[in-house]
Order: sequence, then C-alpha cells, then structure tokens
Amino acid sequence: MNFTSFPRRNYLQGATPVEPMPNLSEALGGDINLFVKRDDLLPGAAGGNKTRKLEFCIADALVKGADTLITCGAVQSNHCRLTASWAAKEGMECHLILEERVKGSYKADGSGNNFLFELLGVKSHRVVEGGSDMVAEMNKTAEELKAQGKKPYIIPGGASNAIGALGYVNCAVELIQQLNDARLKVDHIVVPSGSAGTHAGMVTGMVGMNAGIPVSGVNVSRPKDLQEEIVYKLAEETAESLKIKSGIPREEIVCYDDYVGPGYSIPTDSMIEAVKLFASKEGILLDPVYSGKAAAGLVDLVRKSVFPKGANVLFLHTGGSPALYAYLDTFR
Ligand SMILES: *Cc1c(COP(=O)(O)O)cnc(C)c1O
Repeated sequence: MNFTSFPRRNYLQGATPVEPMPNLSEALGGDINLFVKRDDLLPGAAGGNKTRKLEFCIADALVKGADTLITCGAVQSNHCRLTASWAAKEGMECHLILEERVKGSYKADGSGNNFLFELLGVKSHRVVEGGSDMVAEMNKTAEELKAQGKKPYIIPGGASNAIGALGYVNCAVELIQQLNDARLKVDHIVVPSGSAGTHAGMVTGMVGMNAGIPVSGVNVSRPKDLQEEIVYKLAEETAESLKIKSGIPREEIVCYDDYVGPGYSIPTDSMIEAVKLFASKEGILLDPVYSGKAAAGLVDLVRKSVFPKGANVLFLHTGGSPALYAYLDTFR
C-alpha cells in the first residue's frame, strides 16, 4: 500500500504498542487471549485515534494554502481536542462548532475535553442544537473567516472522509507488520465505530493486504444497518483512492449496535463495567463515549463465546480518557 502520493504530515512517532491483556483475559474466563493496540498513546494532546487521520487532513489543508482549521464535534469531542492540539503545533487557528446532542450537556465551565479546547488555544467555538446541519454551520463560519482575510479549511466531523481514513489504512499496515515481527496470529479485531473513519480504514487496509483478519465494529450511536452502510461507503471510497482493485466485499463490514444503550454519549451499565475492568485489571483508561462502549461489546462477545476457544482477539483502543473527567458522577 502506497501512501506517498498523498500529502501527509509526520505526527506519529513509530508504531503504537500492541500489548497482551492476560489479567482481563483471565477475568473473562481464560478461553480467549485478549490483546490491545494502544492508539490511546498516539502523540497529540492526551492521545487518541484522530491524530492518524489529521496527519493526512491537515497536510491537505496546508497544501491548499490554509492558515485556519474549522471542524465540529459533540460537546466533549476528542476530535475537536486533537484538531486544536495539532493546529497549535502547526501555528494555525482553530475554530469549533459544537453540537449539543444531549440537551443541556454543554457547560461553559465543563471539564474534560471541553476544558482542554480553551487551554489549547481554540480561537472560537459555537454551540448549536443537536441535529443541526453541521456542514452548513461550518460553511457559515468559513465565510465569516474569509471575510476577515483568513484561509479556512473545513475538516469534517471525526476527520472521517476518504482523506482521514487513510490514517487507519496505515494503522492496519502498521499492525500487520507488528504481528509479523512478533510471530503473533490475531484471529479477530474489535474497533469502535463512530464517524466511521477508523472502522472503514481498518477494513480497507485488511482487505487491501489480503490479511484475512475480520474486523468488527461496535457502534456508539447508530443502528446496525445505517452504520454498516456509512462504513461501507467510506471504505469503498478509500479503497478507490488507493486503487485497491478488488473493492470492499460488503460482508467485510460488520457492526454491533447492542451496546449503544439509550443513545450517543449516554452512560450504560456495561460501559461502566468495562471501564472499571480495563482500569483495575490492566491499568488502561478507556472513555465513557467510545472506547468504553466498544469494550463493553468486546467483553460481552467474549462472554457469549462468539470467538472460538483459544482465539487471539485484538481490541483497538482509540483513546478518549479526558472525557472521564466530565463523567465523575457516573463512576463514583
Ligand atoms: C472519534 C473516536 C472514536 C470513533 O472513531 P471514528 O473514526 O469516528 O469512528 C473512537 N474512540 C474515540 C476515543 C474517539 O474520539
């Protein structure tokens, strides 16, 4: 897979670790060997998956002469935090549109990522109602900034377009190299599936390399059918830009929607259990919105014996721990 024909910054510092999770495996009955890829340890303030995507998206912005980044996300968006972090590093302005998906969830003096936006020097942020047309809102901000002589560039929510998804195709390549080096056979990969760039990129990479490792996505907001269509579309588009001739077989896209609970970012008992399990058994911090719900899916799939006895199952940890501090009451 060749990424050198795409504009790209250099935000990664080598491969993120792949670690066994023996204590968690044991706590779940010992039939499955669990591993974790630590994308929570990626560079960029407080780490997480958006750094891989922004390496391509911000490079595209710079090639196009931009001096200002505009993006959007939920009120505790990790993507907004990492866009602000890399904008600071690049000497670019960062402007955010925050969608209040849960009424009353925005707090001007909020903790977690919300607090970090300010610290990372975000130039402006605007809060809009849940369900707003975020593209239109970002365009509006872009027009205002252009009128002030700025050169804005819009990064879509989660940096999940065919440019950002390249970051996770590259993660798949990196992972296969690590597994080869360690002589480690992984039978199944579990990833969170949100704005879809992570899931789509991983599947595209695995298909492009003929790796033969199934990737399952655990939804954090949408129902299965809808999410699978979104992931499939983005994977096809990404495969096309990489000239992967086979395209993406539709059956490679598998999502579970049993762990969303009442809705995006709303805590569930299984999320709370998973966050506590990872912390107490492996010393790993998940988050309440994405990796916690995805891990709840992983735990349940292991308990339901979806994976055959003795299987090696790898969980992609996408980060997000700053959001924990906005949910203290949930965990105490
Ligand atoms: C954005 C995010 C995800 C979901 O990744 P997508 O590419 O949007 O599907 C998962 N975990 C964390 C911590 C995130 O911030």
